[in-house]
Amino acid sequence: MKIGFIGLGIMGKPMSKNLLKAGYDLVVLDRNALVTEEYEGLGAIIVQTPKEVAEVADVIITMLPNSPQVEEVVLGENGLIEGAGSGKVLIDMSSIAPLVSREVALKLAQKGMEMLDAPVSGGEPKAIDGTLAVMVGGSKEIFDQYYDVMKAMAGSVVYVGEIGAGNIAKLANQTIVAINIAAVSEALVLAQKSGVNPELVYQAIRGGLAGSTVLDAKAPLMMDRKFDPGFRINLHMKDLNNVLETSHEVGVPLPLTASVLEMMQALKVDGFDSEDHSSLVKYYEKLANV
Ligand code: NAD
Repeated sequence: MKIGFIGLGIMGKPMSKNLLKAGYDLVVLDRNALVTEEYEGLGAIIVQTPKEVAEVADVIITMLPNSPQVEEVVLGENGLIEGAGSGKVLIDMSSIAPLVSREVALKLAQKGMEMLDAPVSGGEPKAIDGTLAVMVGGSKEIFDQYYDVMKAMAGSVVYVGEIGAGNIAKLANQTIVAINIAAVSEALVLAQKSGVNPELVYQAIRGGLAGSTVLDAKAPLMMDRKFDPGFRINLHMKDLNNVLETSHEVGVPLPLTASVLEMMQALKVDGFDSEDHSSLVKYYEKLANV
């Protein structure tokens, strides 16, 4: 099986390298040529357009920033759809608006091509370890057929429903992560301004009910002032905008998510939106003047 991989950024690079490690043949594309150069010595075929990827590969994985990039790569000039053929499959692992997943899948279906929306959680460390959590929408039959491909990059691969359901699961995930990071930020700034060492507070609480994956992943970054991405604030804002668009469509008020999005907006105004989302702590530090 030949796998096409488009979007070799923070996530796509380690994910595609895990597919190579698992023995799959790869065809790669990124609009940043510096990134694809790395693949020359690794036995991957490098091509220049999504159309060529679709012509050469049996299944194509996309790992792009947001809905407009997925639409451009799939439906734009020299897009995947121009090289699409019956029996080929797109697995879009980007986090995008569920509505766009459904629209793109409909257009591909007219060419006989199937699509799964299969966004991931776990960030760069789990992308490197091949232990991502993948949440998948689309045909169950296609899910079963390509389970092993996704599993080569993941610790868990879970089918959640029809096309778009994967991205609904991802929106739920992003809401929980955003609110958790805000909670961790509030707690650390409280400890610091109260004159108690936040590092010791973290060590004291992590084994109790406040312990969480987010606490363990993000509190050390906040305390060590390591804000290189990781997951950029501007990508998390994109997700929270998609969350609120979807929640408004279906009629669910999400006051906490909306608040965290506004905090991120304030950080963007201060020029921090290309930093890791752990820099949310700076919002609270500014409020508390610490
Ligand atoms: P990134 O910006 O590091 O990588 C995106 C890559 O896509 C870049 O290399 C870019 O050059 C390429 N690209 C963009 N437009 C293109 C186009 N039209 N044609 C070809 N290549 C194009 O982003 P990332 O952090 O790897 O995130 C990718 C997706 O995964 C996003 O949807 C993000 O929300 C999601 N995600 C990220 C993380 C994380 O921790 N970084 C975790 C889970 C999910």
